[in-house]
Amino acid sequence: LVKTRFAPSPTGRMHVGNLRTALYSYLIAKHEGGKFMLRIEDTDQERFVPEALDIIYQTMKDTGLVHDEGPDKDGGVGPYVQSERCQSGLYLKYAKQLVEQGDAYYCFCTKERLEGLKRTVAGKEISAYDKHCLHLSKEEVQAKLDAGEPYVIRFNMPLEGTTTFHDEIYGDITVNNEELDDLILIKSDGYPTYNFANVIDDHLMGITHVVRGNEYLSSTPKYNRIYEAFGWDIPVYIHCPLITNEEGQKLSKRSGHSSFEDLLDQGFVKEAIVNFVAFLGWSPAGDREIYSLEELVDVFDYHHINKSPAVFDMTKLKWMNGEYLKAMDAGLFYEMAEPYLKKYLKADLDLAKIAEMVKTRIQILPDIEEQVDFFNEVPDYDVEMYVHKKSKSTKETSLAVLTEVVPLLTGMQEFDGDTLFETLKAFAADHEYKVNTVMWPIRTAVSGKAATPAGATGLLEVLGKEESLARIHAAIE
Ligand code: GLU
Repeated sequence: LVKTRFAPSPTGRMHVGNLRTALYSYLIAKHEGGKFMLRIEDTDQERFVPEALDIIYQTMKDTGLVHDEGPDKDGGVGPYVQSERCQSGLYLKYAKQLVEQGDAYYCFCTKERLEGLKRTVAGKEISAYDKHCLHLSKEEVQAKLDAGEPYVIRFNMPLEGTTTFHDEIYGDITVNNEELDDLILIKSDGYPTYNFANVIDDHLMGITHVVRGNEYLSSTPKYNRIYEAFGWDIPVYIHCPLITNEEGQKLSKRSGHSSFEDLLDQGFVKEAIVNFVAFLGWSPAGDREIYSLEELVDVFDYHHINKSPAVFDMTKLKWMNGEYLKAMDAGLFYEMAEPYLKKYLKADLDLAKIAEMVKTRIQILPDIEEQVDFFNEVPDYDVEMYVHKKSKSTKETSLAVLTEVVPLLTGMQEFDGDTLFETLKAFAADHEYKVNTVMWPIRTAVSGKAATPAGATGLLEVLGKEESLARIHAAIE
């Protein structure tokens, strides 16, 4: 049975890279009918941000990445929060086992001593511990422990030979063992390092596929050494490519759209974000790009994840978002659009009607502004706008039409779009105009624009009789 996990550290907002890791983990598990687990990696007390826990849960809920097991859903291998796991002395127990086996050792070196320790590997200097404490005798170690000297526990990496591991995306990677620093397993505060806890937990929790960002690629040979020391099976590794901005730099907070929450703040649709994130480093066969989460589960094949950096293409996200807005249920769209409509429009307008008009014409919600600005007041415009070939409109026909429709509109009782349309259509027939020769100048006169989110009669309805007539009068003068 395939079992994957998402193992976020609660340090702030949900970075797009982390969301992608969560999504790919979810898709891999679900595609295989397996299980997807959530584990909270909060052993780095310095970076811990309590609000980040809520962000994690909210993001999982918003994106539909429902976990089968996690802190709030016991699957029998908990606790699922590393700080809680620490309390039972779990990590220390395993670290001590490695000490007994000779694969790890206590290190009492002070910060001062550690500073500047270097090793030359293939002509390059790397910072690496010099195994000073590896040579302490059992008695010396015990004496220091008894005296309460602060310590860490380090893994004893081999200095000779090579280590090869396999990643599903990057292939076989071989490193010289002399590059492997003696990893700290237990820190001086008694907490395990991220590296150690990660290995212990992935094993004890039965994780078969480890999905994470490629920044962990260089640590992976060290993890394998730990798995081997315990005699445990090594999981399948799937390291995902870097995500960059359009300039090719690592997507960072400075970009302003590096987290799921940033994107929600900017009015993007959750489902569109998920769809977009799925394509950051992966794509299915064919040209189709719009996929719901369930459809992604069906088609996702991690063997097709690309190792070259994925570019966060804002133009594409906006396009996708527009597709989601178009397909969205009208009520839901109104809920999302209402704050924007309220911000941009006078209160007495029919916002629901306007929402319907703009729904298929925008990519992101702030685009609503340029679609609706004329409802508040007609921008300055030019009589040249009356000239429109396709509608057979000239300045002369336009002025004639506008003058003639004033009494007609003034006399109307019902001012809804359908009635307006029928009335103006009949007017056109009577006067032997094409319908568009009538509609064009009306639309232009009330909006001052050549492109509007609705035709003439739709605009008249929303503006109402009084305002519509006032605008037409003003246009004639
Ligand atoms: N806690 C790590 C992070 O948030 C997880 C890395 C992993 O998935 O192994 O980056």
